[in-house]
Amino acid sequence: MKENSFISIVIPVFNEAQNLAELIERCIGACGKMDAPCEIILIDDGSHDGSADIISAAANQDHSIIKGVLLNRNYGQHSAIMAGFEQAKGDIVVTLDADLQNPPEEIPNLVDQIQKGYDVVGSVRKNRQDSSFRKLFSFIINKTVQKVTGVMMNDYGCMLRAYKKHIIDAVLSCPERSTFIPVLANSFARSTTEIMVTHAERSGGDSKYSVLKLISLQFDLLTCMTTFPLRLLSIIGGVISLLGIGFGFFLMVMRLMFGAVWAADGVFTLFAVLFVLIGAQFLALGLLGEYLGRVYNDVRARPRYSVCNVVDKDSRNPAATKRGQ
Ligand code: UDP
Ligand code: MG
Repeated sequence: MKENSFISIVIPVFNEAQNLAELIERCIGACGKMDAPCEIILIDDGSHDGSADIISAAANQDHSIIKGVLLNRNYGQHSAIMAGFEQAKGDIVVTLDADLQNPPEEIPNLVDQIQKGYDVVGSVRKNRQDSSFRKLFSFIINKTVQKVTGVMMNDYGCMLRAYKKHIIDAVLSCPERSTFIPVLANSFARSTTEIMVTHAERSGGDSKYSVLKLISLQFDLLTCMTTFPLRLLSIIGGVISLLGIGFGFFLMVMRLMFGAVWAADGVFTLFAVLFVLIGAQFLALGLLGEYLGRVYNDVRARPRYSVCNVVDKDSRNPAATKRGQ
């Protein structure tokens, strides 16, 4: 362990009263195994099962390494993690879930990888203990993210991850409301890796994600990484229009070769015209989408680029890290 690296463990909590005692005990145990100062930040995301009281009590104990952040209402897992990032003082920040599906004992392994020089360390769940529906959902999402971002991480859904401080700063500098932290963080990373971790069944209570919340999360993930669906409208429009034109052409040739029977009194021709018009409508929507995508990107106001290092032999401070605004 490098000297003076401080580790912050950030955990969002929503109605996890049943799991908190064990979570806190096992996290403190994991911190004890690391030869570095640690803080555990528990964010209560508007729970109504007494989680906030348990967190406050743990944070108020003498010499406690626990910090409680209590939100006034439920904002969602990723907003809660952002609230934790705001408070994190660590040079290395680790996130995990409160339900003990991610074993806190893996934290030292993640930290080890960060110390080897990676900006982000993800984790892949061995023998994932979730329903087949959730696994299928994750499979599709992981493949899509890999394709769109080009970053070959295998498990974006697992929140047991570690980040270097400058990545957290970059994530915090993004003022957007809906976000999916692993994807956003990766967009600022230069080097990433993954380790295999064990995965347990939920220790107590049920998943906090209803089907609707899950769908909303997937949309956050999609819109967080790309505006391609807006462009897809233009592509669909172009294809429909071209098909319409081709069909019209085909009808004309057949009509000239085989006579009026082929035109079915103009009904087919109407179809060809309709295709072209529908395609044109999609194209127009796609054009609006292109503007919308640019407005969306500007409103999010993410840093334009992220500089990891400036190498300048004359500079006295070559390690300056800056982000373009
Ligand atoms: N969580 C949260 N706010 C929410 C939903 C979830 O802070 O609105 C927390 C929850 O307490 C847990 C983590 O996010 O620590 C992951 O939630 P869960 O285990 O229910 O998700 P799943 O494992 O089913 O994907
Ligand atoms: Mg869980």
